[in-house]
Amino acid sequence: MPSPGGDLHTTSQTTSTTGPATGPDDPGSRPEHADRVRGSVLAGALGDALGYAVEFDSWSAIVARWGEAGVTDPAGLDRPVISDDTQMTLFTLEALAEALRWANEGSAADELACLWLAYLRWYRTQGELLPGDAPQPPATWLESDPSMRHRRAAGNACLSGLGSGRMGTVERPVNPDSKGCGTVMRSAPFGLVPHVPVEDMVRLAARGSALTHGHPTAAAAAGALAGIVARIIRGASLEDAVAATVATLAEAGDGAAETLAALRRAVEEAEADRADHGPDSALDPPRLAQRFGGGWVAEEALAIAVYCALVDADDDPATHLRRALVRAANHDGDSDSTAAIAGNIVGALYGTTALDPAWVEALVERDVVEREIDEFLAAVGGAR
Ligand SMILES: [Mg+2]
Repeated sequence: MPSPGGDLHTTSQTTSTTGPATGPDDPGSRPEHADRVRGSVLAGALGDALGYAVEFDSWSAIVARWGEAGVTDPAGLDRPVISDDTQMTLFTLEALAEALRWANEGSAADELACLWLAYLRWYRTQGELLPGDAPQPPATWLESDPSMRHRRAAGNACLSGLGSGRMGTVERPVNPDSKGCGTVMRSAPFGLVPHVPVEDMVRLAARGSALTHGHPTAAAAAGALAGIVARIIRGASLEDAVAATVATLAEAGDGAAETLAALRRAVEEAEADRADHGPDSALDPPRLAQRFGGGWVAEEALAIAVYCALVDADDDPATHLRRALVRAANHDGDSDSTAAIAGNIVGALYGTTALDPAWVEALVERDVVEREIDEFLAAVGGAR
Protein backbone atom coordinates (compact mmCIF):
# COMPACT_ATOMS: atom_id res chain seq x y z
CA MET A 1 0.00 0.00 0.00
CA PRO A 2 1.25 3.50 -0.71
CA SER A 3 1.68 5.80 2.19
CA PRO A 4 -1.53 7.59 3.09
CA GLY A 5 -2.02 11.28 2.90
CA GLY A 6 -0.45 11.81 -0.50
CA ASP A 7 -1.18 14.20 -3.27
CA LEU A 8 -4.61 15.51 -2.41
CA HIS A 9 -3.71 16.00 1.24
CA THR A 10 -1.55 18.81 -0.05
CA THR A 11 -4.77 20.55 -0.91
CA SER A 12 -6.01 20.42 2.64
CA GLN A 13 -2.70 21.44 4.12
CA THR A 14 -2.33 24.34 1.74
CA THR A 15 -5.79 25.70 2.15
CA SER A 16 -6.06 25.10 5.87
CA THR A 17 -2.89 27.00 6.60
CA THR A 18 -3.03 29.77 4.06
CA GLY A 19 -6.72 30.24 3.35
CA PRO A 20 -8.26 30.33 -0.10
CA ALA A 21 -5.75 30.78 -2.84
CA THR A 22 -6.41 33.67 -5.17
CA GLY A 23 -3.31 33.82 -7.31
CA PRO A 24 -3.44 33.97 -11.08
CA ASP A 25 -2.19 30.40 -11.35
CA ASP A 26 -4.96 29.06 -9.20
CA PRO A 27 -7.83 27.95 -11.43
CA GLY A 28 -10.01 27.14 -8.46
CA SER A 29 -10.25 30.84 -7.70
CA ARG A 30 -11.65 31.56 -11.14
CA PRO A 31 -15.34 31.35 -11.81
CA GLU A 32 -14.73 29.44 -15.00
CA HIS A 33 -13.12 26.44 -13.36
CA ALA A 34 -16.45 24.75 -12.72
CA ASP A 35 -17.50 25.40 -16.30
CA ARG A 36 -14.29 23.91 -17.63
CA VAL A 37 -14.87 20.80 -15.53
CA ARG A 38 -18.36 20.47 -16.94
CA GLY A 39 -17.10 21.08 -20.45
CA SER A 40 -14.33 18.51 -20.18
CA VAL A 41 -16.42 15.71 -18.75
CA LEU A 42 -19.49 16.33 -20.90
CA ALA A 43 -17.51 16.70 -24.12
CA GLY A 44 -15.68 13.50 -23.26
CA ALA A 45 -19.00 11.75 -22.75
CA LEU A 46 -20.27 13.03 -26.11
CA GLY A 47 -17.14 11.85 -27.87
CA ASP A 48 -17.52 8.51 -26.16
CA ALA A 49 -21.14 8.23 -27.29
CA LEU A 50 -20.30 9.20 -30.85
CA GLY A 51 -17.35 6.85 -31.05
CA TYR A 52 -19.09 3.96 -29.33
CA ALA A 53 -21.52 3.80 -32.24
CA VAL A 54 -18.61 2.83 -34.49
CA GLU A 55 -16.01 1.52 -32.04
CA PHE A 56 -15.30 -1.74 -33.83
CA ASP A 57 -16.09 -0.58 -37.35
CA SER A 58 -13.43 0.02 -39.97
CA TRP A 59 -13.53 3.32 -41.82
CA SER A 60 -14.99 1.59 -44.85
CA ALA A 61 -17.71 0.08 -42.68
CA ILE A 62 -18.39 3.49 -41.16
CA VAL A 63 -18.76 5.02 -44.62
CA ALA A 64 -21.05 2.22 -45.72
CA ARG A 65 -23.34 2.83 -42.78
CA TRP A 66 -23.08 6.57 -42.16
CA GLY A 67 -21.91 8.05 -45.44
CA GLU A 68 -18.73 9.79 -46.58
CA ALA A 69 -18.61 12.13 -43.58
CA GLY A 70 -18.88 9.26 -41.12
CA VAL A 71 -20.81 9.47 -37.89
CA THR A 72 -21.15 13.16 -37.07
CA ASP A 73 -24.06 13.82 -34.75
CA PRO A 74 -24.60 12.21 -31.33
CA ALA A 75 -28.13 13.56 -31.30
CA GLY A 76 -28.79 11.63 -34.50
CA LEU A 77 -27.97 8.28 -32.93
CA ASP A 78 -30.84 6.07 -31.81
CA ARG A 79 -29.43 5.98 -28.29
CA PRO A 80 -26.29 8.02 -27.66
CA VAL A 81 -24.94 6.17 -24.65
CA ILE A 82 -21.68 6.37 -22.76
CA SER A 83 -19.41 3.35 -22.68
CA ASP A 84 -16.73 2.13 -20.30
CA ASP A 85 -14.61 5.21 -20.98
CA THR A 86 -17.05 7.64 -19.41
CA GLN A 87 -18.18 5.10 -16.84
CA MET A 88 -14.65 4.83 -15.50
CA THR A 89 -14.12 8.59 -15.80
CA LEU A 90 -17.11 9.09 -13.52
CA PHE A 91 -15.65 6.65 -11.01
CA THR A 92 -12.37 8.58 -11.16
CA LEU A 93 -14.35 11.70 -10.30
CA GLU A 94 -16.06 9.81 -7.49
CA ALA A 95 -12.73 8.71 -6.04
CA LEU A 96 -11.17 12.16 -6.25
CA ALA A 97 -14.24 13.71 -4.66
CA GLU A 98 -14.05 11.22 -1.80
CA ALA A 99 -10.37 11.91 -1.27
CA LEU A 100 -11.02 15.64 -1.34
CA ARG A 101 -13.81 15.30 1.22
CA TRP A 102 -11.48 13.40 3.54
CA ALA A 103 -8.85 16.07 3.05
CA ASN A 104 -11.39 18.83 3.71
CA GLU A 105 -12.17 17.19 7.03
CA GLY A 106 -8.51 17.16 7.93
CA SER A 107 -7.99 13.46 7.46
CA ALA A 108 -5.09 12.02 5.54
CA ALA A 109 -6.83 10.55 2.53
CA ASP A 110 -5.24 7.67 0.68
CA GLU A 111 -6.14 8.74 -2.85
CA LEU A 112 -4.90 5.55 -4.44
CA ALA A 113 -7.10 3.46 -2.17
CA CYS A 114 -10.05 5.70 -2.98
CA LEU A 115 -9.36 5.13 -6.67
CA TRP A 116 -9.06 1.40 -6.30
CA LEU A 117 -12.28 1.13 -4.34
CA ALA A 118 -14.12 3.28 -6.88
CA TYR A 119 -12.86 1.17 -9.75
CA LEU A 120 -13.91 -1.97 -7.87
CA ARG A 121 -17.40 -0.48 -7.74
CA TRP A 122 -17.25 0.07 -11.50
CA TYR A 123 -16.14 -3.56 -11.84
CA ARG A 124 -19.31 -4.67 -10.05
CA THR A 125 -21.42 -2.56 -12.42
CA GLN A 126 -20.08 -4.77 -15.19
CA GLY A 127 -21.87 -7.76 -13.70
CA GLU A 128 -18.71 -9.14 -12.10
CA LEU A 129 -18.25 -10.46 -8.58
CA LEU A 130 -15.15 -9.53 -6.64
CA PRO A 131 -13.02 -12.36 -5.24
CA GLY A 132 -13.70 -13.19 -1.63
CA ASP A 133 -10.38 -11.81 -0.42
CA ALA A 134 -10.86 -8.46 -2.17
CA PRO A 135 -12.29 -5.43 -0.40
CA GLN A 136 -16.04 -5.12 -0.73
CA PRO A 137 -16.56 -1.37 -0.86
CA PRO A 138 -20.02 -0.12 0.08
CA ALA A 139 -22.11 0.78 -2.93
CA THR A 140 -22.49 4.42 -3.86
CA TRP A 141 -25.34 6.07 -5.74
CA LEU A 142 -23.18 5.99 -8.86
CA GLU A 143 -22.69 2.25 -8.69
CA SER A 144 -26.36 1.72 -7.92
CA ASP A 145 -27.69 3.88 -10.72
CA PRO A 146 -29.30 1.55 -13.27
CA SER A 147 -27.89 3.55 -16.16
CA MET A 148 -24.38 2.58 -15.09
CA ARG A 149 -25.08 -1.12 -15.08
CA HIS A 150 -24.30 -1.74 -18.70
CA ARG A 151 -21.32 -3.55 -20.07
CA ARG A 152 -20.17 -1.75 -23.16
CA ALA A 153 -16.98 -3.28 -24.47
CA ALA A 154 -15.07 -2.83 -21.24
CA GLY A 155 -11.31 -3.15 -21.54
CA ASN A 156 -9.86 -6.55 -20.79
CA ALA A 157 -7.02 -5.29 -18.62
CA CYS A 158 -9.36 -3.09 -16.61
CA LEU A 159 -11.54 -6.10 -15.91
CA SER A 160 -8.76 -8.60 -15.22
CA GLY A 161 -6.72 -6.19 -13.14
CA LEU A 162 -9.61 -5.33 -10.87
CA GLY A 163 -10.88 -8.89 -10.91
CA SER A 164 -7.57 -10.06 -9.47
CA GLY A 165 -8.65 -8.56 -6.18
CA ARG A 166 -5.12 -7.27 -5.77
CA MET A 167 -4.22 -3.60 -5.62
CA GLY A 168 -1.77 -3.03 -8.42
CA THR A 169 1.01 -0.57 -7.76
CA VAL A 170 3.87 0.79 -9.80
CA GLU A 171 6.19 -1.42 -7.78
CA ARG A 172 3.96 -4.52 -7.95
CA PRO A 173 1.70 -4.03 -10.97
CA VAL A 174 -1.09 -6.23 -12.12
CA ASN A 175 -1.03 -6.91 -15.88
CA PRO A 176 2.62 -5.84 -16.11
CA ASP A 177 2.68 -5.93 -19.91
CA SER A 178 -0.61 -4.13 -20.52
CA LYS A 179 -0.66 -0.65 -22.00
CA GLY A 180 -4.18 -0.53 -23.37
CA CYS A 181 -5.82 2.85 -23.53
CA GLY A 182 -8.01 2.00 -20.55
CA THR A 183 -5.82 4.09 -18.31
CA VAL A 184 -5.77 7.21 -20.47
CA MET A 185 -9.47 7.32 -21.17
CA ARG A 186 -10.35 7.49 -17.47
CA SER A 187 -7.66 9.97 -16.40
CA ALA A 188 -8.85 13.43 -17.44
CA PRO A 189 -10.36 14.11 -13.99
CA PHE A 190 -6.90 14.12 -12.42
CA GLY A 191 -6.26 17.26 -14.42
CA LEU A 192 -9.48 18.85 -13.22
CA VAL A 193 -8.42 19.12 -9.58
CA PRO A 194 -7.37 22.70 -8.80
CA HIS A 195 -5.04 23.96 -6.07
CA VAL A 196 -2.69 20.98 -6.35
CA PRO A 197 0.60 21.15 -8.25
CA VAL A 198 0.26 19.76 -11.76
CA GLU A 199 3.06 17.29 -11.22
CA ASP A 200 1.27 15.81 -8.21
CA MET A 201 -1.81 15.02 -10.27
CA VAL A 202 0.31 13.67 -13.10
CA ARG A 203 1.95 11.33 -10.62
CA LEU A 204 -1.38 10.26 -9.15
CA ALA A 205 -2.77 9.52 -12.62
CA ALA A 206 0.28 7.39 -13.32
CA ARG A 207 -0.06 5.53 -10.02
CA GLY A 208 -3.76 5.08 -10.71
CA SER A 209 -3.00 3.46 -14.04
CA ALA A 210 -1.00 0.75 -12.29
CA LEU A 211 -4.20 -0.41 -10.60
CA THR A 212 -5.03 -2.18 -13.86
CA HIS A 213 -2.14 -1.76 -16.31
CA GLY A 214 1.48 -2.31 -15.42
CA HIS A 215 3.29 -1.12 -18.54
CA PRO A 216 5.16 2.17 -18.05
CA THR A 217 3.60 3.62 -21.20
CA ALA A 218 0.13 3.23 -19.73
CA ALA A 219 1.22 5.30 -16.75
CA ALA A 220 3.05 7.91 -18.83
CA ALA A 221 0.13 8.41 -21.19
CA ALA A 222 -2.40 8.68 -18.37
CA GLY A 223 -0.17 11.19 -16.64
CA ALA A 224 0.29 13.11 -19.87
CA LEU A 225 -3.46 13.52 -20.37
CA ALA A 226 -3.79 14.67 -16.76
CA GLY A 227 -0.97 17.14 -17.34
CA ILE A 228 -2.47 18.55 -20.53
CA VAL A 229 -5.89 19.03 -18.94
CA ALA A 230 -4.39 20.46 -15.74
CA ARG A 231 -2.39 23.04 -17.65
CA ILE A 232 -5.42 24.03 -19.72
CA ILE A 233 -7.63 24.63 -16.70
CA ARG A 234 -4.82 26.73 -15.22
CA GLY A 235 -5.06 29.01 -18.22
CA ALA A 236 -2.54 27.61 -20.69
CA SER A 237 -3.39 27.53 -24.36
CA LEU A 238 -3.92 24.13 -25.91
CA GLU A 239 -0.62 24.38 -27.75
CA ASP A 240 1.30 25.45 -24.65
CA ALA A 241 -0.32 22.77 -22.49
CA VAL A 242 0.75 20.09 -24.94
CA ALA A 243 4.23 21.57 -25.35
CA ALA A 244 4.78 21.72 -21.59
CA THR A 245 3.65 18.13 -21.27
CA VAL A 246 6.00 17.04 -24.03
CA ALA A 247 8.81 18.83 -22.22
CA THR A 248 8.13 16.98 -18.98
CA LEU A 249 7.93 13.65 -20.81
CA ALA A 250 11.31 14.37 -22.38
CA GLU A 251 12.80 14.45 -18.89
CA ALA A 252 10.90 11.45 -17.56
CA GLY A 253 13.16 8.65 -18.73
CA ASP A 254 12.69 5.51 -20.76
CA GLY A 255 9.24 4.71 -19.39
CA ALA A 256 7.87 7.81 -21.08
CA ALA A 257 9.66 7.32 -24.41
CA GLU A 258 6.76 5.84 -26.35
CA THR A 259 4.35 8.48 -25.14
CA LEU A 260 6.87 11.22 -25.89
CA ALA A 261 7.40 9.99 -29.43
CA ALA A 262 3.67 9.66 -30.09
CA LEU A 263 2.87 13.12 -28.75
CA ARG A 264 5.70 14.71 -30.70
CA ARG A 265 4.34 13.08 -33.83
CA ALA A 266 0.88 14.45 -33.07
CA VAL A 267 2.22 17.97 -32.63
CA GLU A 268 4.34 17.84 -35.77
CA GLU A 269 1.53 16.48 -37.92
CA ALA A 270 -0.98 19.00 -36.62
CA GLU A 271 1.41 21.92 -37.07
CA ALA A 272 2.19 20.86 -40.63
CA ASP A 273 -1.44 20.39 -41.56
CA ARG A 274 -2.52 23.69 -40.02
CA ALA A 275 0.39 25.70 -41.35
CA ASP A 276 0.51 24.35 -44.85
CA HIS A 277 -3.04 23.79 -45.92
CA GLY A 278 -5.53 24.63 -43.21
CA PRO A 279 -7.89 22.24 -41.44
CA ASP A 280 -9.24 20.71 -44.64
CA SER A 281 -5.86 19.12 -45.31
CA ALA A 282 -5.88 17.22 -42.04
CA LEU A 283 -5.20 13.52 -42.19
CA ASP A 284 -8.16 11.63 -43.59
CA PRO A 285 -9.32 8.60 -41.61
CA PRO A 286 -7.17 5.99 -43.40
CA ARG A 287 -4.05 8.13 -43.06
CA LEU A 288 -4.87 8.94 -39.45
CA ALA A 289 -4.74 5.27 -38.56
CA GLN A 290 -1.62 4.74 -40.65
CA ARG A 291 0.17 7.61 -38.96
CA PHE A 292 -0.80 6.99 -35.36
CA GLY A 293 -2.06 3.43 -35.16
CA GLY A 294 -5.54 2.48 -34.04
CA GLY A 295 -5.51 3.97 -30.59
CA TRP A 296 -6.07 0.65 -28.86
CA VAL A 297 -2.94 1.26 -26.81
CA ALA A 298 -2.34 4.18 -24.53
CA GLU A 299 0.12 6.36 -26.39
CA GLU A 300 -1.68 5.96 -29.71
CA ALA A 301 -5.04 6.92 -28.23
CA LEU A 302 -3.54 10.02 -26.65
CA ALA A 303 -1.74 10.97 -29.86
CA ILE A 304 -4.86 10.66 -32.00
CA ALA A 305 -6.85 12.73 -29.53
CA VAL A 306 -4.17 15.42 -29.30
CA TYR A 307 -3.76 15.56 -33.08
CA CYS A 308 -7.53 15.95 -33.52
CA ALA A 309 -7.63 18.62 -30.82
CA LEU A 310 -4.75 20.58 -32.35
CA VAL A 311 -5.45 20.40 -36.05
CA ASP A 312 -8.77 22.27 -35.93
CA ALA A 313 -7.75 24.72 -33.23
CA ASP A 314 -8.13 27.73 -35.53
CA ASP A 315 -11.89 27.34 -35.62
CA ASP A 316 -14.37 28.98 -33.29
CA PRO A 317 -14.92 27.00 -30.07
CA ALA A 318 -18.09 25.17 -31.06
CA THR A 319 -16.71 24.25 -34.47
CA HIS A 320 -13.37 23.28 -32.98
CA LEU A 321 -14.98 20.91 -30.50
CA ARG A 322 -17.36 19.41 -33.04
CA ARG A 323 -14.63 18.81 -35.58
CA ALA A 324 -12.30 17.32 -32.98
CA LEU A 325 -14.96 14.89 -31.78
CA VAL A 326 -15.99 13.85 -35.27
CA ARG A 327 -12.42 13.49 -36.47
CA ALA A 328 -11.44 11.47 -33.41
CA ALA A 329 -14.43 9.15 -33.73
CA ASN A 330 -14.13 8.30 -37.42
CA HIS A 331 -11.24 5.99 -38.18
CA ASP A 332 -10.30 2.33 -38.16
CA GLY A 333 -9.35 2.26 -34.50
CA ASP A 334 -10.70 2.66 -30.97
CA SER A 335 -13.17 5.39 -31.80
CA ASP A 336 -14.88 5.91 -28.48
CA SER A 337 -11.69 6.21 -26.46
CA THR A 338 -9.98 8.57 -28.88
CA ALA A 339 -13.04 10.78 -29.21
CA ALA A 340 -13.63 10.76 -25.45
CA ILE A 341 -10.05 11.90 -24.80
CA ALA A 342 -10.29 14.58 -27.49
CA GLY A 343 -13.49 15.80 -25.87
CA ASN A 344 -11.87 15.90 -22.44
CA ILE A 345 -9.09 18.11 -23.80
CA VAL A 346 -11.08 20.53 -25.96
CA GLY A 347 -13.93 20.65 -23.47
CA ALA A 348 -11.51 21.74 -20.75
CA LEU A 349 -10.33 24.51 -23.05
CA TYR A 350 -13.71 26.13 -23.65
CA GLY A 351 -16.05 24.89 -20.96
CA THR A 352 -19.70 24.41 -21.74
CA THR A 353 -19.94 27.27 -24.22
CA ALA A 354 -18.60 25.03 -26.97
CA LEU A 355 -21.08 22.23 -26.33
CA ASP A 356 -24.01 21.77 -28.67
CA PRO A 357 -27.05 21.86 -26.34
CA ALA A 358 -28.87 19.36 -28.54
CA TRP A 359 -26.01 16.89 -28.16
CA VAL A 360 -25.98 17.24 -24.39
CA GLU A 361 -29.74 16.93 -24.24
CA ALA A 362 -29.64 13.72 -26.26
CA LEU A 363 -27.06 11.97 -24.08
CA VAL A 364 -28.87 9.11 -22.38
CA GLU A 365 -26.82 9.31 -19.17
CA ARG A 366 -26.76 13.10 -19.02
CA ASP A 367 -28.26 13.25 -15.52
CA VAL A 368 -25.82 10.82 -13.95
CA VAL A 369 -22.85 12.50 -15.63
CA GLU A 370 -23.93 15.93 -14.41
CA ARG A 371 -24.66 14.66 -10.90
CA GLU A 372 -21.15 13.24 -10.56
CA ILE A 373 -19.70 16.49 -11.90
CA ASP A 374 -21.70 18.37 -9.26
CA GLU A 375 -20.40 16.11 -6.50
CA PHE A 376 -16.83 16.55 -7.66
CA LEU A 377 -17.23 20.32 -7.82
CA ALA A 378 -18.79 20.39 -4.37
CA ALA A 379 -15.77 18.53 -3.01
CA VAL A 380 -13.42 20.88 -4.85
CA GLY A 381 -15.28 23.85 -3.44
CA GLY A 382 -14.93 22.43 0.03
CA ALA A 383 -11.19 22.40 -0.43
CA ARG A 384 -10.99 26.11 -1.09
MG1 LIG B 1 -15.53 2.30 -24.60
